[in-house]
Amino acid sequence: MADPYEWLDRSLHIIQQAGWYRSVQPIDGISGATVLVNGRQLINFASNDYLGLAGDPRLADAAIDAIKKWGTGSTGSRLLSGHREIHYQLEQSIARLKRTEDSLVFSSGYLANVGTIMALVGNRDLILADAYNHSSLKKGALLSGATVVEFKHGDPGDLLSKLNQFRLRYRRCLILTDTVFSMDGDLCPLPEILDLSEQFEAMVLVDEAHGTGVIGEGGAGCVEYFGCTGRPLIQMGTLSKAIGSLGGYVTGSFPLIDFLRNRCPSWIYTTGLSPADTAAALAAVRIIEIEPERRYQLWQNVQAVKNNLYHWSQITSQRYKLLPSQSPILCIEMPNSQITQQIGSQLQALGLWVAAIRPPTTPTCRLRITLMSTHTSHHCEQLSNALTSLCY
Ligand SMILES: *Cc1c(COP(=O)(O)O)cnc(C)c1O
Repeated sequence: MADPYEWLDRSLHIIQQAGWYRSVQPIDGISGATVLVNGRQLINFASNDYLGLAGDPRLADAAIDAIKKWGTGSTGSRLLSGHREIHYQLEQSIARLKRTEDSLVFSSGYLANVGTIMALVGNRDLILADAYNHSSLKKGALLSGATVVEFKHGDPGDLLSKLNQFRLRYRRCLILTDTVFSMDGDLCPLPEILDLSEQFEAMVLVDEAHGTGVIGEGGAGCVEYFGCTGRPLIQMGTLSKAIGSLGGYVTGSFPLIDFLRNRCPSWIYTTGLSPADTAAALAAVRIIEIEPERRYQLWQNVQAVKNNLYHWSQITSQRYKLLPSQSPILCIEMPNSQITQQIGSQLQALGLWVAAIRPPTTPTCRLRITLMSTHTSHHCEQLSNALTSLCY
């Protein structure tokens, strides 16, 4: 008899041969602008903790108080035994930040996307999706059973032609896009997408995972930045990036949220978010509202690094390409996975921790640099100097 698991070893071997093999690296202590990796302190350009809140003592205290008050687990679905007053408070605070009517928190952003898309559309419906969307939007679209058509990344002209070609054949239509593209750092053309959605009677779900807390004067995200607050749309995001906790959310109109409470499988059939995660997120949303200086500092750091990298990109060979970015995510496209890993290790040897991104996460290899408001100007200079000396 053949071993039915034997293919696993063969697959791993192929992944290794392609240079796509990945494994985990443990971090010690509290993750901040610097992190301890294998006993060495490195400057952290690899986290999504844009405002440095994941290590903020106010979030930790809120989480500890919540555990003392409500215990560690929420013990059941929100619809049965899992709902606490603090869930309601967090949902209200997200709706206030976003200037929407109501919101719903999930155990992760991934679950928020998958379940919401499954609840909104089915096999008589059409999904139009940006080709660079996050995995959670792509998997949600597949699971929904709707017909999925991709449009060219960031291209409203292509979206228009796909709407013209397909829209009339389907009942409902849902347009899906990241607002900040997580592996590129550019923004979606939101006003154009919303105009098209109104013209073609389509719903829009935007993924603000990397926008919330970071973009827009009040930190409400790209919807605020583009002046689209109040326009009909569905917003989702995560509590685990700038918000520094764990979980996800969907926010929008009262009927939308009420419908999801009744029909969204990844919210109904899973345990409510833990009291600790909920309390930490609630503390973070308050900080985002009252401490805009964190955002200002973040954007100063982004501008400083961008200026330096712009000079560098003028003199470097064609081998390395700085991708266009309007966010704290800066990506340098690399010629192949071997060089990506090599430069990643060399940066680590110089005391800098940068993510080396390879397929299948993205079609091409890149270094992904994320800036934080808690980086100092010295941290930013060290990054620019190291890149200039390694990539030429
Ligand atoms: C991280 C991320 C998610 C998933 O959020 P989690 O809370 O980490 O599950 C969804 N969409 C995008 C664009 C992301 O970057």
